[in-house]
Amino acid sequence: MAARLVLSLNGCYDSCSLSGGASIKFIVKSPLNKADVVEVRYDCFCGCKPRAQYQRGTDEANHEHCCCGQVHFVGAQAEDRLKAYLAERATTGMDDDVGGYTLHAQQVKAPWGDPVAVAYAVPHHPRKH
Ligand SMILES: [Zn+2]
Ligand SMILES: [Zn+2]
Repeated sequence: MAARLVLSLNGCYDSCSLSGGASIKFIVKSPLNKADVVEVRYDCFCGCKPRAQYQRGTDEANHEHCCCGQVHFVGAQAEDRLKAYLAERATTGMDDDVGGYTLHAQQVKAPWGDPVAVAYAVPHHPRKH
């Protein structure tokens, strides 16, 4: 079975311009009483507020896949994990309807001062909210 996955990578480390001209403004902060956790969220164009957390010092990453098809990963190897996640979905054609993704990778600064990787994929044909 051939995996169909259309990916293009924009390695942008400051701010990213999306195809629609908008750019994601990530909101980076620690949840209440969790100084060792960073939560990275944004206001999606579809109206949702996807959020993902990273626990300081761990090798983990977490993600949220928005209803419109946009997905972001936060944490260790965020970019690799995002690619693996999309590749896995592609093997069963789960994302055929969005026509591929444009990938973006950047770093945000955690409240404790360290850089944290954020990677996100923008679907070429977003789903309806
Ligand atoms: Zn969305
Ligand atoms: Zn939505």
